[in-house]
Amino acid sequence: MSIAEPFSPQEVFLGKDAGEKIVPNVLISSQRYIQGDGVIAHLGRYLSIIQSIRPAILISEGGMRRIGDKILESLRKAKIEPVVVTFMGESSYEEIDRALALLRTEEGPVDSLIAIGGGKCLDTGKSIAYRLSIPVVICPTIVSNDAPCSAVSVIYTPDGVFKEIELFPSNPSMVVVDTRIIAQAPLRYLVSGMGDAMATWYEARTCFGNPKARNNVDCRPTIAARTIAEQCAKTLYEYGTGAIDAVKNSQVNGDLERIAEANTLLSGMGFESGGLAAAHSVAGGLTVISELHKNYLHGEMVAIGLLTQLMLEDQIEDAKEVTSFFSEVGLPVHLGHLSLDSKSDIKDLERAMEASMKNPFIGNEPFEVNPKNLLDSILKANDLGREIASQKGDSAYRSIHNLKK
Ligand SMILES: [Zn+2]
Repeated sequence: MSIAEPFSPQEVFLGKDAGEKIVPNVLISSQRYIQGDGVIAHLGRYLSIIQSIRPAILISEGGMRRIGDKILESLRKAKIEPVVVTFMGESSYEEIDRALALLRTEEGPVDSLIAIGGGKCLDTGKSIAYRLSIPVVICPTIVSNDAPCSAVSVIYTPDGVFKEIELFPSNPSMVVVDTRIIAQAPLRYLVSGMGDAMATWYEARTCFGNPKARNNVDCRPTIAARTIAEQCAKTLYEYGTGAIDAVKNSQVNGDLERIAEANTLLSGMGFESGGLAAAHSVAGGLTVISELHKNYLHGEMVAIGLLTQLMLEDQIEDAKEVTSFFSEVGLPVHLGHLSLDSKSDIKDLERAMEASMKNPFIGNEPFEVNPKNLLDSILKANDLGREIASQKGDSAYRSIHNLKK
């Protein structure tokens, strides 16, 4: 995994000399988190928090069509005239440079950047704002992963191949989640975010328990991060299916509010400050199978990564509980759910497990991990998933993926 570092946590938190002994407990987070039904209509008012009077908005053409009027109206009410930049779809250095060039030709500088959309638009927004040294406001229109609150961008090539990760010295100044917009987005996004969020607790637990493990800023997790991660999983178990009903009816309810927060804030803080382990390493490894990378969402791969981690750690009871939950909400529970076959695709799986070893977070597991025990674990997870799917059926998965019975 390649990391481009405008910010080096090792240098700042651990000191330049690797010999320094103290590894501090560090928690990082976005400065403000605002969530609710219809909150996007008040965005103009919220900008006063960061004293922004001339923001740039980064939004796709489709996003502008769907919610552009609402946003512009809310800014107008606050007497704010923004500069709108259309996001072209890829979180790449080329896209960042294009937006920077446009913003630099504007008369008078912009004083904040509001990124509105899915993960790639939000990540591009973080990278642009960093380069302009202005605060970034993040407005996710889907809650499919743990990225919105984080101080991280994933950079791709213009053709959508993973390139590297950028780490920033600070998290977004503000994250604004309008649950009305989340309720109207396709269900698959919400469910995928639940897979990503569920892994948060089991990965943070592993890191907290292993004194050698480090979180995303190379430090030890705080009790706060561990508690947030644990609450994330509890929230998913309790309110996950209720939130799914809400999105099926395009309605906001209390359950959806809780799951939107779990997928975005709890999962975001939990993974970044609590630490990652095998689940995200395996999810990253699986992306070397290009069909998977194209057809499945991050959270769906993390789901299989988490089941693999639990098998690797021999946490069989937890594996059963997570698998049952995943099959109920429609997340992948076996390799077939990622269009893979444990026999005919074994070479691809071996390649993916080799790639998982390159992820530094694999080292947060408290024992030796190698491609062989990873492969054994994913195959065991596959067997358990098949067993549970045959008992419980997989109608939730099939309906999300538009598959016939
Ligand atoms: Zn994730």
